[in-house]
Amino acid sequence: MKFKARLWDKLDEGKVKCHVCANECTIMPGKVGICRTRKNFDGELFTLIYGSLISSGSLDPIEKKPLYNFWPGATAYSIASIGCSFRCQNCQNWSISQANPTDDGKNGFFDLEGYSDRGMSLVEMSAEKLVKKVIKSGAKTLAYTYNEPLIWHEWILDTAILLKREDIKIILVTNGFSTPEASKELIEVGIDAANIDIKAMSDAFYKEMCGVKSVQPVLDTAKRFKNSGIHVEITNLIIPNWNDSQEDIKKLCNWIVDNLGKNTPTHFSAYHPDFKVPSKKRTPYETLNMAYKIAKEAGLYFPYIGNIRHEEGSNTYCPNCNHLIFGRSGYTFTKIDITEDNKCPNCGYDLKNDIIGKTNKSTSQRFAFF
Ligand code: SF4
Ligand code: SF4
Repeated sequence: MKFKARLWDKLDEGKVKCHVCANECTIMPGKVGICRTRKNFDGELFTLIYGSLISSGSLDPIEKKPLYNFWPGATAYSIASIGCSFRCQNCQNWSISQANPTDDGKNGFFDLEGYSDRGMSLVEMSAEKLVKKVIKSGAKTLAYTYNEPLIWHEWILDTAILLKREDIKIILVTNGFSTPEASKELIEVGIDAANIDIKAMSDAFYKEMCGVKSVQPVLDTAKRFKNSGIHVEITNLIIPNWNDSQEDIKKLCNWIVDNLGKNTPTHFSAYHPDFKVPSKKRTPYETLNMAYKIAKEAGLYFPYIGNIRHEEGSNTYCPNCNHLIFGRSGYTFTKIDITEDNKCPNCGYDLKNDIIGKTNKSTSQRFAFF
């Protein structure tokens, strides 16, 4: 729904400047920003997607976000809207990320070549109704996910205040393209965890693949979140011939070690061709295995491999004695061996800063839409 936006300035001739993400769009009257979801109405900026959801929500394993070291085994009530601050050529969620909302936020439509006849209805929901639904579902965490949540700023702030009162943990699955002002508001409202996509360490990659100017705002957001006490995990999708060299992966791992710390879980994910298909090849096992080894050599405690079977890369090991703490097959545990107070049962190493929250030992995971 249409809702007055936060974090913008009036410019001359009815233009406005938005500071919700690092695109910092200057928007002419009657036009939308790059994300397509913020529109200038007569010199005032509005979001069109406040409380506009693609469904009432779905129940996902938290590992699907992916978050492996945060309330392991929890269910994440997952919600999304439409739009994104990026234009990734490989987007696997392009049908929502590249859609436009109508001015009343009730529908989504495409203006991409070849997609003009596609559309969707959006579910309108109040913050109070969402919280009631989350409580009823029994989920203890809520994830803003699938499209880019940072452009959902006002809705996240308003819902997060209510969710915090119910002790629901709040998760962002994000491209990290935030501004200092927007990050500050998210930190203050109490975001608990974030999976941040660092797609590559080069501006050239971000320009060519994602259509934005630089990786730097992403790195700054990751540092800001981590320094403020938000639990941060990193995802890196490895695309053949784009960001799959030893140098690319070493640079990323070294940056994480130096700036976020060795205990930052880092997920290397296998690419498969999608949307505008920047590479026709899937990521081979050997490349992901190389990434796993480079991450270990760089000193990362918790490298993980996703979207492909890799036994070690699915599991969590004690960084002190290499004892198997969590064995996983897909999103299901094959083994859980951690003390009630998050210590390694083999060597007594204290994992409380590495694995946040209690482990849900039930392995039944649900994937229901409702
Ligand atoms: S959220 Fe980002 S992309 Fe959208 S209008 Fe604001 S600055 Fe532009
Ligand atoms: S940032 Fe994520 S959701 Fe947005 S276009 Fe890129 S891959 Fe898609």
